[in-house]
Amino acid sequence: MTATNTIVSNIAAIQARIAAAHYLFCPSAPQATLMAVSKTRSAKEIQLALSAGIQHIGENYLQEALAKQAELQNNAICWHFIGPVQSNKTRDIAEHFSWVHSVDRAKIISRLNDQRPSQLAPLNICLQVNINDEASKAGATIEEIPALAELVLNQPRLRLRGLMAIPANTRDPAQQRRNFAAVRELLHTLRQRFPRAQLDTLSMGMSGDMEAAIAEGATILRIGSDIFGPRAAAKPD
Ligand SMILES: *Cc1c(COP(=O)(O)O)cnc(C)c1O
Repeated sequence: MTATNTIVSNIAAIQARIAAAHYLFCPSAPQATLMAVSKTRSAKEIQLALSAGIQHIGENYLQEALAKQAELQNNAICWHFIGPVQSNKTRDIAEHFSWVHSVDRAKIISRLNDQRPSQLAPLNICLQVNINDEASKAGATIEEIPALAELVLNQPRLRLRGLMAIPANTRDPAQQRRNFAAVRELLHTLRQRFPRAQLDTLSMGMSGDMEAAIAEGATILRIGSDIFGPRAAAKPD
């Protein structure tokens, strides 16, 4: 099989895995959206993913993403920013993305709101929660999330959609499910506290833990290596 149709057949295989996991764990829930995470991948590789039906693309590094967006401007793509957000990047993120999944502090929230262009729809926001409280990981603590949620809900140019998490790395499916269940429960407490908010999103599940995430209610799966193949070392922005 050539590299070209590997991406296409990988996506078909993942869609089958998603359908199977739904059938097994949550047959009545709407099927989770498959986002292709294309950090370090070329515009050509993204185009192959689009040809296989992908509409949502996730990028981690701003400059790399902007270059690919320019190359792919004639395609219908919903762009998601999923990497660390530094203050000096918020203007470009607010202008060039539909979603940001990696919001974890107040300063970033107010900058994204102030810099979201008025002719665009409000920017969709997921708060990133550091669900296992790992020192090495980004994300707000569980305790910080409600106040950050209230802050996002008070910004007219932002729309709070839910939570994003990258749990502690484990191959144990039971532990994966416990971690994702904690994210789901946190979203539930936010819904009770902010009943009028449109909190419909759990952005969780990567190549190694997608099925466990679906079992716990994931609505957006962020899949990189199972679509595009193993990555070379991450590059700095
Ligand atoms: C790279 C990345 C992914 C995809 O991870 P894979 O294991 O390659 O599927 C998902 N989410 C975030 C935030 C990432 O940085």
